[in-house]
Amino acid sequence: MAQQPKSQLNNSQLERMVEISRILNSTTNVDTLLHTIITEAANMTGAEAASILLLDPQTRQLHFRAASNSMEPGMLNTAVPLDNSIAGAVFQSNRPAIIADVSREPRWNENVDKAIDFQTRSILAVPMHDVERPVGVLEALNKQEGAFTTADVETLSTLADIAGVAVEKARLIEELQLAYNELNELDQVKTDFIAVASHELRTPLAVIMGYVSFLRDEASPDMAGHLDQVMDASQQLRALIQDMLNLRYTDSGDTPLQLKEIDLVTLVRDMVMEKEEVMRSRQHTVTLRLGKQPLWAHIDPEKMGQVLSNLLNNAAKFTGTGGRIEVAVYGQGSEAWFRIRDNGMGIPSDKLERIFKRFYQVESSLNRRHEGMGLGLAIARELVLLHNGRIWAESDGQNGSTFYMVLPLTQR
Ligand code: ADP
Repeated sequence: MAQQPKSQLNNSQLERMVEISRILNSTTNVDTLLHTIITEAANMTGAEAASILLLDPQTRQLHFRAASNSMEPGMLNTAVPLDNSIAGAVFQSNRPAIIADVSREPRWNENVDKAIDFQTRSILAVPMHDVERPVGVLEALNKQEGAFTTADVETLSTLADIAGVAVEKARLIEELQLAYNELNELDQVKTDFIAVASHELRTPLAVIMGYVSFLRDEASPDMAGHLDQVMDASQQLRALIQDMLNLRYTDSGDTPLQLKEIDLVTLVRDMVMEKEEVMRSRQHTVTLRLGKQPLWAHIDPEKMGQVLSNLLNNAAKFTGTGGRIEVAVYGQGSEAWFRIRDNGMGIPSDKLERIFKRFYQVESSLNRRHEGMGLGLAIARELVLLHNGRIWAESDGQNGSTFYMVLPLTQR
């Protein structure tokens, strides 16, 4: 069996390495990380300074990303070619190099020294890797006493290994954060547009509804039937616009709640009665499971009514004609649990959380058979959270869906 080379790190150096590894792994800001690495690199090798060069995968050049003496801003990101440079050679050969006297080294590029007003005499350079690839070069500059030793090579290489993985991890986190911010910005643009558009739609719709109801009063029975249809469609449109407007309220974070002491059993019974027409039109059978005791909670009845209405509409909408829908509310400890179960199309398990995100709909908008904008559940969740509650969905993806909502009961 091949013998592992014996580590030259002594106990206190090993302890320090473990500590550094802990610090590096808990730092997610790349610049802070790089700064910590160079400080430690200089300290642990007894060098005057240290610097890090990272590979730009596009240009395939190394760039200075940090150095321990004050680097001019323009110097950061200065490109060092892979060919004909000390760092480039270390990177490409994937081996450390000790340059005891740079003045005798033909690949030494003194422009860097000039730019940062530093005089390099000796260099110890080691490659930095992430888990599998080289990502850059870590350099210790000017050994303060004597010359760089093989022990320094080992110290710096170990540090470079820990640092490489930490830098790559931090870089990925920064990229993710950036992508997340971009998505949020896009979301905001969409939300702003919807807020403006819905506001503009409301006024003409109110005029239409006003005239329809006026004409309805004067109309012949035949005509009245047609006007009823216009009114129904207008009411649907108004509900959609209301959803769009609600986004703005929940967004600003100060949705005014009109809290009242309400019996949730009555609230559910009333809501289900309100949906009778919708359920009948789709030939659904609705079973109500309500306890005899009232369940008192401090809630905004209009907002909670809106949440329940949305859950019931969805159950009706995403269940084929003649479906079975069960609605229950019951007390569990200090909470009220609502359960709305249907035997409809179900929700794939990887979408159970996403359906609570704005605009998300399981069916793509191109082949949608159901109306709606994908806002109902997002608004529902925000409203439930405002009531210190929870809402989630369960489904095996084919045999219907069950939505749960939990609200705190009033302590009596
Ligand atoms: P909308 O109903 O306007 O599309 P929602 O936010 O209320 O928006 O719902 C988001 C998505 O969640 C729906 O488009 C649908 O894909 C899925 N969904 C919601 N409720 C159900 C349900 N009971 N059964 C199956 N899918 C559902």
